[in-house]
Amino acid sequence: MDAREIHLKRRPVGMPVADDFAMVVNSLPELAEGEVQVRNLWMAVDPAMRGRMSDAKSYVPPFALDAPMEGPAVGTVVASRDPGFAPGDIVSSRLGWREAFNAPASALRLRPDTGLPPQAYLGFAGVTGLTAYAGLLKIAALRPGDVVFVSGAAGGVGSIVCQIARLKGHKVIAAAGGAQKTAYLRDTLGVDAVIDYKAEPNLTRALAREVKAIGATGIDVYFENVGGEHLQAALALANPFARFAICGMISQYNVTDAPTVPRNLTLVMVKSIRMEGFIALNHMDIEPHFLADVTAWHKAGLLTATETVHEGIDHALDAFFGLFSGADLGRMLVKLG
Ligand code: NAP
Repeated sequence: MDAREIHLKRRPVGMPVADDFAMVVNSLPELAEGEVQVRNLWMAVDPAMRGRMSDAKSYVPPFALDAPMEGPAVGTVVASRDPGFAPGDIVSSRLGWREAFNAPASALRLRPDTGLPPQAYLGFAGVTGLTAYAGLLKIAALRPGDVVFVSGAAGGVGSIVCQIARLKGHKVIAAAGGAQKTAYLRDTLGVDAVIDYKAEPNLTRALAREVKAIGATGIDVYFENVGGEHLQAALALANPFARFAICGMISQYNVTDAPTVPRNLTLVMVKSIRMEGFIALNHMDIEPHFLADVTAWHKAGLLTATETVHEGIDHALDAFFGLFSGADLGRMLVKLG
């Protein structure tokens, strides 16, 4: 079988461009003993992939040059020489960015039929959902009455954070870029207040206005996806003993100059703020509780899958670039099969 895959050709400087990548056709060889052949149905693109395109040391190794990139994918087994997998099985893997592949069985995770659509394992029932769940409930340790501020609120992780905080009865202030995203957050996800950060000359003043509008004195939990001005505003409006779950800082991923904000980090001490970074993959111990909760919430209509879908591997790079221009609403997916 021939399968197209996307390789990293050179390491981007600043915002990646199409010439940093190459589309390559790979002829899959006969399966070896213990291997499984999978046709990908869906892949997802993540902001963290930008980090792996550089060769800076991080919590995962950089992508190799002239090799297919990696990323979350869900596919169907086409052929198997491993007793644990049979044709038709739905499996998830880290082998995205390719239409099909052969892999050892150990690289695959069988996804039993729970009634969820396969792409849910790239969204609310996958690492994206676990990131929201672990960050909010374990790292920020959400407590009754907390007012929650979420940046990047209309994205894959952010849209789930907003929904979990709401279904647990919290007031949520959500920041995102553009009127369409803020309308979605307010009207569909039901958050209490929204900030279109692209339309605000001063984010700290905008957050102060929305805190007041919902009758609060400040924020108790900040779910950080963006960094920079958003973090500065959250520090300024934090209540004493606030907890900040530092999930990501996408505003910093393509910058080449040293950051100049936040300028008010001293407030971490002044307000006794607990700020904790986390990586979802270090919290797999809570996955069984997480999966049971999100499946039940989804079935009860309390958790919606927000998705932007690009069709075909030819559009996978458009999907990836769209993460940085804000062209996505919810989880950015590519439908491959
Ligand atoms: P996403 O939020 O679906 O997509 C990225 C969004 O970031 C865009 O839609 C855009 O929304 C916003 N954005 C892009 N550039 C920006 C900028 N310069 N300033 C402000 N906003 C910007 O992506 P995701 O996969 O759900 O990831 C969200 C965050 O979580 C990222 O920081 C990611 O690195 C992090 N993450 C961390 C973990 C972990 O284990 N710690 C796991 C997964 C993801 P707007 O249109 O609203 O600007």
